[in-house]
Amino acid sequence: MEKMQFKAESKRLLEMMINSIYLQKEIFLRELISNASDAIDKIYYKALTDETLSFDKDHYYIKVVADKENRALKISDTGIGMTKEELEQNLGTIAKSGSLAFKKENESKDGHDIIGQFGVGFYSAFMVADSVTVMSKALGEDTAYKWESEGTDGYTIEPYEKEEVGTEIILKIKENTEDETYDEYLEEYRLKAIIKKYSDFIRYPIKMDVTER
Ligand code: ADP
Ligand code: MG
Repeated sequence: MEKMQFKAESKRLLEMMINSIYLQKEIFLRELISNASDAIDKIYYKALTDETLSFDKDHYYIKVVADKENRALKISDTGIGMTKEELEQNLGTIAKSGSLAFKKENESKDGHDIIGQFGVGFYSAFMVADSVTVMSKALGEDTAYKWESEGTDGYTIEPYEKEEVGTEIILKIKENTEDETYDEYLEEYRLKAIIKKYSDFIRYPIKMDVTER
């Protein structure tokens, strides 16, 4: 297993995001659900043009499972998945779509406006998680891969057993501190409220499950 480094600009953005600009930590869930939805869209559009693929509506959903005992929050989807290369490229380069460039051009604006307009993306997960694990199997691939990171210190990738095409993301939710609570991100009522607030428009079912200790 090889340990790889984030690219410099990514690292800066990540540190900036985790440490300061964001007050509303709850949006991490919006970001992960929107990525899951995008991944299902990709299969859907592929099925429109590829006759060998059928889009059975019942098979496509997003699932949010909180496991309090293990402080784990899992967000999974039956979307298109990521290959090993895609895991490296997509999760190893932060905000290549330009959130940072946008911030530079708009120094006078505060972080909220910027994030209101642009998704902060996958890395927002590190606002609430000590570690993030992404298990993914891409459509058409035999091997699945597990991507794992504790944030600023790079990531690892290794082969992984996964039957179904799609992606499963596990956040190891941070322990509460004196100033911050994180337990709430394992509570059903709280997760439901966040989903309702930000993800009401998502076109695929969002299933939920909470395992009490
Ligand atoms: P954005 O969604 O703006 O492209 P993100 O940081 O949210 O940026 O995600 C980066 C990329 O990682 C996505 O563009 C996508 O290619 C990939 N990705 C993230 N989550 C998933 C997922 N659940 N399934 C498939 N690909 C994903
Ligand atoms: Mg996104």
